Amino acid sequence: MSKLFTNVKELPPDPLFGLKARYNKDSRSDKVDLGIGAYRDNNGKPWILPAVRQAEQKLINSPEYNHEYLSISGFEPFYTGAAKVLLGDKSPAIEEGRVVSQQSLSGTGALHLAGLFLKKFYSAGPHTIYLSQPTWANHKQVFETLGLTVKTYPYWDNATKSLDLKGFLNTINQAELGSIFLLHACAHNPTGLDPNYEQWNQILAALEAKKHLIIFDSAYQGFASGDLEKDAYPIRKAINDSVVKSTPIIICQSFAKNVGMYGERVGAIHVVLPTKDDAFGRAIKSQLNLIIRCEISNPPAYGSKIVSTILNDKELYSQWRKDLVTMSSRIIKMRNALRAKLEKLGTPGTWNHITDQTGMFSFTGLTPEQVERLEKKHGVYLVSSGRASVAGLNDGNVDKVANAIDEVVRNSKSSKL
Ligand code: PMP
Repeated sequence: MSKLFTNVKELPPDPLFGLKARYNKDSRSDKVDLGIGAYRDNNGKPWILPAVRQAEQKLINSPEYNHEYLSISGFEPFYTGAAKVLLGDKSPAIEEGRVVSQQSLSGTGALHLAGLFLKKFYSAGPHTIYLSQPTWANHKQVFETLGLTVKTYPYWDNATKSLDLKGFLNTINQAELGSIFLLHACAHNPTGLDPNYEQWNQILAALEAKKHLIIFDSAYQGFASGDLEKDAYPIRKAINDSVVKSTPIIICQSFAKNVGMYGERVGAIHVVLPTKDDAFGRAIKSQLNLIIRCEISNPPAYGSKIVSTILNDKELYSQWRKDLVTMSSRIIKMRNALRAKLEKLGTPGTWNHITDQTGMFSFTGLTPEQVERLEKKHGVYLVSSGRASVAGLNDGNVDKVANAIDEVVRNSKSSKL
């Protein structure tokens, strides 16, 4: 039978979901999951945000509640509210009608739409997209599958555990005019390292000088600092302060993490035009609609209605902002606890990067061998790059994790630390 097809090779499991499967099979009662980036409460349990619980009640009790199809663009109160979360209520781009929005299947769906749209229509530069080195593993395959050429820009300097700004700017300057650059808006995955404001200003100015097209991947707004405004800094700088004037900007927005609705696939793509052009805006919208119609017909309703209920209700919105602080401050607390414990144990190496980093992840600096030993000997699961989802730590397991890291660092031959 397989002779009827060519090249249907069995692929290895997805590294992250494969890790999750191994974790689920592990019968040790004190195992710890620091793999997939999903928030956990201090008992290690998934957390339904109070804002979401209240919004669900409000939605279900509403006389308009139903399960009808949405329009092809999605739920309008959702995607217009979502644009305001990114750009702010008073954004000139919104007020002047320069933002084209389309609901997507969470952040991944938005990235796919962005790639497909650029592949079909982008003509001002090469179909080459630059990704940070390293980046979220799915970025490369999403864009390669669509036929874009994927290259990288230096980002993480392993020697100093800080941003390789010089390398980043060099690549921007040397890339062919009008290339595509994907930027993590905040809480960089996997390193947890974000440029500071001054560095962002330099990066954005360099991109503008070379007329590169920016895709912002905004999957963690509110998670880095607990503050939606702060975490949108580079987006608002580029758009509201008109730093980027020569090309549209694409924003891929996920509500998986910051509303904790991972499985409901709530997201949006926004194409922001630098100057008003209603006819072009309508044309973009119609082309995004066509892609959606062919691929999923119309976006899923439930999650977007919940998020819309939160965004369009003053009290629920302020509850959500509190929930963001609850999540981000618990993660910061765990960063401090892990670092303090490692330093107390005198674990070889320096550990300040754990608290310097921000968002869901810490790039621990552990080697693949050390990570393997952590999993086999201690039942502590993280991806082989050494990225740990700090959200998986809690008061009950942080000591165990620190002791396990201490053991693997002391007992491995080669240490990167
Ligand atoms: N971008 C980045 C950097 C991510 O880390 C993720 C989720 N891990 C996403 C996009 C998309 O996630 P989702 O499709 O679940 O919204």
